[in-house]
Amino acid sequence: MTVKLGDVVGDPVDRLAEPLVKVLGPRTAGALVKLGLRTTGELLRHYPRRYTEPGKLTDLSSLKVGEHVTVMAEVRQATVRPMRSRGGATLQAVVTDGTQTLNLAFFAKRTGALNGHESKLRAGRVGLFTGIVGIYQGKRQLAHPDYKIIGVDVDDEAEGLIEAGRPIPIYPASASLASWRIQASVRTVLDPLAEADVPDPLPEAVRTRLRLGTLHQALHDVHEPFDDAQWRRGRDRLQYEEAFVLQAALARRRAEAAGQEATARPRRRAGLLDDFDARLPFTLTGGQREVGDELAADLARARPMQRLLQGEVGSGKTVVALRAMLQVVDAGGQAALMAPTEVLAAQHIRTLRALLGPLAEAGFLGAADRSTRVALLTGSQGAAARRENLLDAASGRAGIVVGTHALLSENVQFADLGLVVVDEQHRFGVEQRDTLRAKGTRTPHLLVMTATPIPRTVAMTVFGDLETSTLTQVPAGRSGVVTHVVPADKPAWMDRTWRRVREEVDAFHRVFVVCPRIDPDDAPDVSDADDDGADLLALDLDGSAEGERVRRPLRAVLEVAEELRGLPALAGVDIGILHGRMAADDKERTMAQFAAGQIQVLVSTTVIEVGVDVAEATGMVVLDADRFGISQLHQLRGRVGRGSAPGLCLLVSGAVDAGDASPSATRLRTLAETTDGFVLAAVDLELRREGDVLGAAQSGGASSLRLLRVTRDADLIARARTDATAVVDADPTLARSPALRAAIDQQLAGEREEFLDRS
Ligand code: ADP
Ligand code: MG
Repeated sequence: MTVKLGDVVGDPVDRLAEPLVKVLGPRTAGALVKLGLRTTGELLRHYPRRYTEPGKLTDLSSLKVGEHVTVMAEVRQATVRPMRSRGGATLQAVVTDGTQTLNLAFFAKRTGALNGHESKLRAGRVGLFTGIVGIYQGKRQLAHPDYKIIGVDVDDEAEGLIEAGRPIPIYPASASLASWRIQASVRTVLDPLAEADVPDPLPEAVRTRLRLGTLHQALHDVHEPFDDAQWRRGRDRLQYEEAFVLQAALARRRAEAAGQEATARPRRRAGLLDDFDARLPFTLTGGQREVGDELAADLARARPMQRLLQGEVGSGKTVVALRAMLQVVDAGGQAALMAPTEVLAAQHIRTLRALLGPLAEAGFLGAADRSTRVALLTGSQGAAARRENLLDAASGRAGIVVGTHALLSENVQFADLGLVVVDEQHRFGVEQRDTLRAKGTRTPHLLVMTATPIPRTVAMTVFGDLETSTLTQVPAGRSGVVTHVVPADKPAWMDRTWRRVREEVDAFHRVFVVCPRIDPDDAPDVSDADDDGADLLALDLDGSAEGERVRRPLRAVLEVAEELRGLPALAGVDIGILHGRMAADDKERTMAQFAAGQIQVLVSTTVIEVGVDVAEATGMVVLDADRFGISQLHQLRGRVGRGSAPGLCLLVSGAVDAGDASPSATRLRTLAETTDGFVLAAVDLELRREGDVLGAAQSGGASSLRLLRVTRDADLIARARTDATAVVDADPTLARSPALRAAIDQQLAGEREEFLDRS
């Protein structure tokens, strides 16, 4: 970039970082702080939510009680009268959109105090009214609304806009700050800014090629448009900028990783991997072989693999990952497998040891000629066991180390960490991945596994720094799962449900009964705070509670277990419980008993969601199923029907009846109709709020995506990805695009804060 005439050389004042209190004074700035806006830059990024055309009244039928609204409406009447009961006076006004009406109410000690309002609120006048929608005597009303009458409140700038017929920006406002006051504040800070005061994250070359204006121009376009075309142009450009900055951040991560050195771990013949393949009791699916080859090739390179492996529950990811780990062990390195919960870590170690057999018994009698050890590191393990396992990891005696977040702790050392496998990505952030990877002397290879099918756009955003492999086939011999929705309020259906459970048990099968919480005395939103910090239930509860009408107490593990023990239909059945508050060995013992058939019905929370593998489990009853998200239910039912007997999943819910179109009902019906994970992921994405899709890091706080919708803007994101990758490839450190680099750093800072909050 050449320095042009007029560019500020040296140390320009960062006008965007100026505190609002300095520019707008303490009163206005104080009100803006409540909206999270502290600096000029933050206020300018507070975009209008929509625009009102002058003269076009707001459709009042859309107003919801409890919402903070700003509406344009016409005054139909206004009358002041004394209040007999309480003394004092009231002004009751009615405004209309031509069809619907909304009441306005003002109260005062004396009628005189209301004269000002009365003279402004004349029938036929049009104004903007803002407040929280309440209900009085069955009618919607705004009490003491802030308002602006068009053509009357002449001392205000916004007024001029209205008169001129410009679109009126409507801002996300609050009770203490009306939209038009925000508009005035925005103008106050925006108008004195010059082009050079507003550094543009979009490099000039990109702007020129795409014929996009500058950021300075775009801010004017969205905040002070003269017509609809102008704000649309500005909004499109800002939306593209969001996608571009996000993709540039990811491209830079990829470039950084590509620039790092890793130890190449090429496949060695006549090693553990060959021995393992020879003893596998089944043949690998085509997909497993193909992905296996991809991983083998990645590992053979001297730069770190960065790969996401997605595949349905039961598609055989673990075997694929284990084969990659063995390749690394054969090449003299170690592999770490990080699981999100203790239950899952314990399960993984059982699975790996079973699959490896004598190959995992190095140092023990009966070990194979070539063998290694599998160590386990979890938070709750006893001191002696921990010491031994730490030693196995640090000495390199253990080729494979399985663990939970405990693997991240500082005193865990590896002799030569060559591969990190992260199972079920959604509970590990980028930072946690990095912490684990930093344990290698050189950057280890990374494999992230997920059972949630990830739509293309989400893969491009949330996992945009990883390459993707997909296992589409499920190994032959699985009989699949049949899913039904059961209305909780129909006793005959519930009877039938428990009798079906009995039939499964009588056929020597096992049944899970899943509840949304542990203890009936817990507050309804208590999540199963597993000691490993598995907080997904809280997230999902939150995501699915939307639009809920009736708040029934949620079914709880302890209560349901008691109830089932008393049911004649289940007499003689051994019923166990499992939840995140149990001690780790209790959990493990219970799982082992369930696997062995000493427990036939297991009442649990979602601790069983991920990866728990009991071939004889054929039945699952999910209570309050509407409180779980689609992908979570899909994962849950993936626990059954893994053997040769078909699985049965009964989704019990009080929130569904035949014609119900609520998101929960739609979710449950979709689940009953299909087991295709990609179809479900697409429906899920439609029904969810953006925040749940992207994770809090990208959806909240100063670094959030404001205009971009991952669900809607796939093409835009793909284009921005190509453009941003080209820019980063040409200039990996972004030395020539300082504004872009600053924008990325700001975004990363937001993510880091988020990470610190969580840990
Ligand atoms: P995922 O981790 O993808 O949910 P797993 O790797 O745990 O799936 O595999 C599920 C089950 O299927 C395991 O019992 C595993 O041993 C078995 N399995 C894996 N691959 C095959 C295959 N190619 N043929 C038959 N069974 C397989
Ligand atoms: Mg698995």
